[in-house]
Amino acid sequence: MIPVTKPFLPPQGIYQNYLNGIWKRQWLTNMGPLASDLEMQLKEHLDVQHLLFVTNGTVALQFAIKALELQGEIITTPFSFVATTSSIVWECCTPVFVDIDPESLNIDADKIEAAITENTSAILATHVYGNPCDVEKIEAIAKKHNLKVIYDAAHAFGVKINGKSVFEYGDIAACSLHATKLYHSVEGGLVITKDPELLKKIAYMRNFGFDGPGHFAELGINGKNSEFHAAMGLANLKFVEDIHEKRKSITQRYDEKLKNLKAVRPVWHKESENNFAYYPLVFESEELMVKCAEHLKLHEIFTRRYFYPSLADSLPYVKPQHLPVTDDISRRVLCLPLYYDLTSEEVDLICRLILRVQNN
Ligand SMILES: *Cc1c(COP(=O)(O)O)cnc(C)c1O
Repeated sequence: MIPVTKPFLPPQGIYQNYLNGIWKRQWLTNMGPLASDLEMQLKEHLDVQHLLFVTNGTVALQFAIKALELQGEIITTPFSFVATTSSIVWECCTPVFVDIDPESLNIDADKIEAAITENTSAILATHVYGNPCDVEKIEAIAKKHNLKVIYDAAHAFGVKINGKSVFEYGDIAACSLHATKLYHSVEGGLVITKDPELLKKIAYMRNFGFDGPGHFAELGINGKNSEFHAAMGLANLKFVEDIHEKRKSITQRYDEKLKNLKAVRPVWHKESENNFAYYPLVFESEELMVKCAEHLKLHEIFTRRYFYPSLADSLPYVKPQHLPVTDDISRRVLCLPLYYDLTSEEVDLICRLILRVQNN
């Protein structure tokens, strides 16, 4: 069986060493030493000024919306994971969808202005598959119309634009450290902002608003993460380069073997490099894509229609909106298996099976 993804697990001994420390200190959660160490190491690794380690990526998004005090309409992408949209609705705002660019598969910045109304408070865009949005154009639009910008950077761990971390764009970026992501802490998320005031506010929000015993500075909830999760994050951080190289070589092998397939790859941001978080293919037709996926499934190889269906047209709590590019591409896109343990033989088998379908 070949799943579409498989979480990376560090050598057990490394994790066990962290556990020994937890048993010694008996400090299990509430921003213990491992959580603080993880924040420090991640800041250095990612080269960002500030970040907060939180419960998960969805909570990170909700903190971002809450901390910026957004109201009314938020312009967003229909081509993302459901949490991008559900976080907006959860925070009592209304998502307004703008179609995606057919090449990058990110929100089409040229279509944003037409969707702005007097009720628009922000733009919440996803760096889909880790591929950076047109951050310059989005920033210019936001400035012109006095809007806030949040990036759902759940896929974008380690991505840079011209050498600068993609997490430093927008007012706030949210990343996920869920087990299925490129780099993970089992469950976990990151809030990144350059604004020290916002950072402080979210740090309070993460811990019930506590400002010392019996004192509250903010409305807060529980968005902390535990020492056990931090330990996994610390252990995995030792392997990120190794994980990156492995995924890169798998991606290159797919590219090479599938060069005659009637499918295209998303076009990556010119000043940025792939972090190899996913291997998406946009097939020439939905029919060919479905046939390939089904043929692979017969051989116990699992793929994922990531992202299908369009978020603008599938959620019971959202007024349906039809967006031609998203509707078309989401029907034809498929992500192939990509994870650390995937072997070249398995990649070759997957490619052979796909090409067999096309050439029959
Ligand atoms: C995974 C993901 C999230 C949610 O992150 P969790 O850590 O699972 O809460 C949000 N947005 C996108 C685009 C994701 O892929």
